[in-house]
Amino acid sequence: VHCPICRKSLVERPKSYSCDCGLIIWKQICGKTITPEIAEQLLKNGRTGTLDGFKSPKSGKAFSASLVLRDKKVAFEFPGQESTPENSEQPKVKNGVIYVRVESGNSGSVTLNIGSPVNLTATINYGLVPSRMAECLGCMTAVRLINHHLTNKPRISLNLNNLEFSRYILCERTPRSREIKSAVEQLWELLKDFTWEAQHQPQKKSRLKGSPQTDKFPPGVFPWLKINPIKDGENIWVDLPNYPDVKAQFQASLRTAQSAEDGRYMLPLTTEKALWAWVNTVTGGHQL
Ligand SMILES: [Zn+2]
Repeated sequence: VHCPICRKSLVERPKSYSCDCGLIIWKQICGKTITPEIAEQLLKNGRTGTLDGFKSPKSGKAFSASLVLRDKKVAFEFPGQESTPENSEQPKVKNGVIYVRVESGNSGSVTLNIGSPVNLTATINYGLVPSRMAECLGCMTAVRLINHHLTNKPRISLNLNNLEFSRYILCERTPRSREIKSAVEQLWELLKDFTWEAQHQPQKKSRLKGSPQTDKFPPGVFPWLKINPIKDGENIWVDLPNYPDVKAQFQASLRTAQSAEDGRYMLPLTTEKALWAWVNTVTGGHQL
């Protein structure tokens, strides 16, 4: 298994799995043995499922948590602490319909919740775009994900929080901004192969306390993405597909990226590790 940050091979030590770059996963965490399988899951996906058998070193109380990689360290994430807004309805699958909840939050971030059988919850930062645009980009990411994961075409039910965007997608109103108009048209194009419906379902209560962690790279949201960065002197050039959701997320995550006239992005060579960390996180580690 390779390090998701610098891509070197990880070294197994008596008490840890570690990498030269400083990434370290201890083999014992709060009384629980971290097996090679758990470590691998953590390295590949940036997180594990909920694990039992931890013990608080202070109180001795047992607890369950997921392990997540934050920077080069392992952190706990507790059930219910995931970035899902408290009052959102969890999507479920009924009669071949896949439910998608897209909910815009602070400045351009959305919480995306895709129901079974895709099962993904992620907070995605699309940069400084209005809520209606963020929800449109979130829908694009969701449809691409469904398209990637499922060979058959299920019915998609889009459950939206933003009223303006709900009206756009249902053709009840035309966006004034050319950028949003073009994004909505691209979304319709993506949805063309599916039977779909959309409804405006505003959240009933105020949002979660605290702001969503929009600076984290969103794990596994673009599993289909393949890039071939090209080094050129002090810079790296990245060619991304011409998808507004991917480009917006890329720029929000890698703020030093500058778009060139030909549509490619240029980053300083010093951000190479960050670039690979982004790629590995958004693809779910498939490019390791
Ligand atoms: Zn490393």
